[in-house]
Amino acid sequence: MSCGRPVGGMFEKFRQRVASGEPAGKVLDDLGMKSYCCRALFMTHIDTLEKIAKFRI
Ligand SMILES: [Zn+2]
Repeated sequence: MSCGRPVGGMFEKFRQRVASGEPAGKVLDDLGMKSYCCRALFMTHIDTLEKIAKFRI
């Protein structure tokens, strides 16, 4: 279940700010992500692209 809001464009900003030590909840508030569906996407996402990109189809 999701609101369908496109949020992918904000992930890199979220990742960088959290990596620099800011609390995830505060960053999500600043990005305007107030609904729990969007917040859950970012808080639970595990970035596997670099791990799987080395395998060819
Ligand atoms: Zn949402």
